[in-house]
Amino acid sequence: DSKDYDSEVESVCPFCGVGCQVSLKVKDNRVVYVEGINGPANEGRLCVKGRFGFDYIHHDHRLTKPLIRREDAPAKGLNVDPDNWQEVFREASWDEALDFAAKGLKGRGREVAGFGSAKCTNEEAYLFQKFIRQGFGHNNVDHCTRLCHASSVAALLENVGSGAVTATFNQIEHADVAIVIGANPVENHPVAATYFKQFAKRGGKLIVMDPRGQALKRHATHMLQFRPGADVSMLNAIMHVIVEEELYDRQYIEAYTENWEAEKAHLADFPPEKMADICGIDAETLRAVARDFATAQAGMIFWGMGVSQHIHGTDNSRCLISLALMTGHVGRPGAGLHPLRGQNNVQGASDAGLVPMFLPDYQSVMDDGVRSAFTEVWGSEDFSNQKGLTVTEIMDAVHDGHIKAMYILGENPAMSDPDVEHARDALAKLDMLVVQDIFLTETANYADLILPASAFAEKSGTVTNTNRQVQMGRPAVTPPGEAREDWAITTELARRCGMDWEYDSPADVFAEMKLNMRSLANITWDRLARENAVTYPSLSPEDPGQPIVFGDGFPRPHGRARFTPASVIAPDDVPDAEYPMILTTGRQLEHWHTGSMTRRSMVLDAVEPEANCSLHPSTLRRLGVEPGGHVRLTTKRGSVVVMARADRAVALDMVFLPFAFVEAAANILTNSALDPYGKIPEFKFSAVRVEAA
Ligand code: SF4
Repeated sequence: DSKDYDSEVESVCPFCGVGCQVSLKVKDNRVVYVEGINGPANEGRLCVKGRFGFDYIHHDHRLTKPLIRREDAPAKGLNVDPDNWQEVFREASWDEALDFAAKGLKGRGREVAGFGSAKCTNEEAYLFQKFIRQGFGHNNVDHCTRLCHASSVAALLENVGSGAVTATFNQIEHADVAIVIGANPVENHPVAATYFKQFAKRGGKLIVMDPRGQALKRHATHMLQFRPGADVSMLNAIMHVIVEEELYDRQYIEAYTENWEAEKAHLADFPPEKMADICGIDAETLRAVARDFATAQAGMIFWGMGVSQHIHGTDNSRCLISLALMTGHVGRPGAGLHPLRGQNNVQGASDAGLVPMFLPDYQSVMDDGVRSAFTEVWGSEDFSNQKGLTVTEIMDAVHDGHIKAMYILGENPAMSDPDVEHARDALAKLDMLVVQDIFLTETANYADLILPASAFAEKSGTVTNTNRQVQMGRPAVTPPGEAREDWAITTELARRCGMDWEYDSPADVFAEMKLNMRSLANITWDRLARENAVTYPSLSPEDPGQPIVFGDGFPRPHGRARFTPASVIAPDDVPDAEYPMILTTGRQLEHWHTGSMTRRSMVLDAVEPEANCSLHPSTLRRLGVEPGGHVRLTTKRGSVVVMARADRAVALDMVFLPFAFVEAAANILTNSALDPYGKIPEFKFSAVRVEAA
């Protein structure tokens, strides 16, 4: 009803990588409600978070002034009451705060590291990585992609030459078979899930593979609830059948791939009859899945963090890539590889170079020509040709005394890092921690300085969703108090650290990004302002972009994708007599990541107010705990007490724990062992003891 609001502004939902376009309805400088509009990914649809989860932007806890830690403040890390922070911090002017930050960071070279954010815009991510590289001469800059799809990207870059999806998820409309593995899209990518359900409804064969049951099961032709950590055994068994029964696409393999003979030979060791006990799926089902996928006209593979967050995460993705290549399910309508990206802008932040090994567009920091192309544009000296440290490696380097100062923008490692007490201890050791955020997060409890930033509805900037769609975000309301846009804060801090930065707006930053990012060819700020979204690659100023790529070869030597055989690696932290069960962590529909936004959204918090875990009803009976009672979960790293729900979807020897709740922080329990390629921690598998509390 037009009487309900004064103005409406088109923007993009700030939660997941689906990237639903929204219309923000504004009255008296407040967003009063939100509607879905016709974006390329959502066609008007929204989930509960996009529809009801926006009121956090007006929450009383918003930071409105820079805060400096008092000299007589209690020890770092104590939980600071957002309503009573004055004992720990004092307000400061922007001038004083920025000078304080510059004094703590400037000239410290390798002692400084930075975490940027997948919640910020592309322009803000680009500026943040430039700040570290230009200002401090090295590549110790990373963000939460390290904790979600770093292993998927490692495998994709290695084998198909590009880290992004080969087809948009909407292409499922043209598929006749689709695999969804290690992902729970009904909760984590809810609008994408609506397309998956429609696909199944019109007769598409949906194959769901997940150690935990899930809502998509109702729509699935096959539901493979395999043993946690047995992904490589299961996928190799499926591919074994495709080889054995000669269901592979010989022509495609010959034209577009390399290393097929090695893959074929490797798969000989994985007959389904031998793998059935290991993965907990009978051989006939594995054979049926292989036949359904290989004989389809067009097949897609979607995966999530159930695949990526393992020490064998890169191997899991290698298997999925091999499966798509051997069946020729790439580069055509309804065919392709699609890691479902988590955060709203994790694709864009990675594209913009917010990672320690790549400059924008995945150009290697080790390549002299690449670095000089950037330093020429930046008008600055060369910087290190060594890959920088990743998220968890930076925390280790703090403990080792090599890193002593950090600038953290919009990330919450005091909640999101594995073995989080290790990360919290590291944050407490820093002699300068600058946190830039919209709330006093758990990480801000450790800050020397907090800079108040802007929420999505208060700023301009582009974001890139899981579909490679670059979309325009627009300001609908003004930031509270003295809070500023992140790009403007980083720019001013860079100036005070001695960098010669001149940007008047995010549009200026976008124009600079285009100089060294071929992915942005034919995509301009003006065009995005007019059209709202353009998919990269876009082949001309009129082309809305290519939903499918690699129809005629890959960006690899000789245009060929590669088969990389994957062997079985056991999880790092295997159950034993003391810790006999398996802990897996993840999100739930109503809460987003570390909860800083959704737990401050009235509707979402009302629906899901309490920290919870899920256990099979038989497990609860064995423990003598009623549903709704409390259990203690203990791993080698720590212990939490949490309310237990009965859930038949969880296997008898498993417990599922969402990571949004600080009062039972899942990452107190998780294991920081890393995948050697993607450097991603094994969040999805820890040995745990479960007891009545
Ligand atoms: Fe937002 Fe994702 Fe929900 Fe769309 S599916 S409304 S992008 S949280």
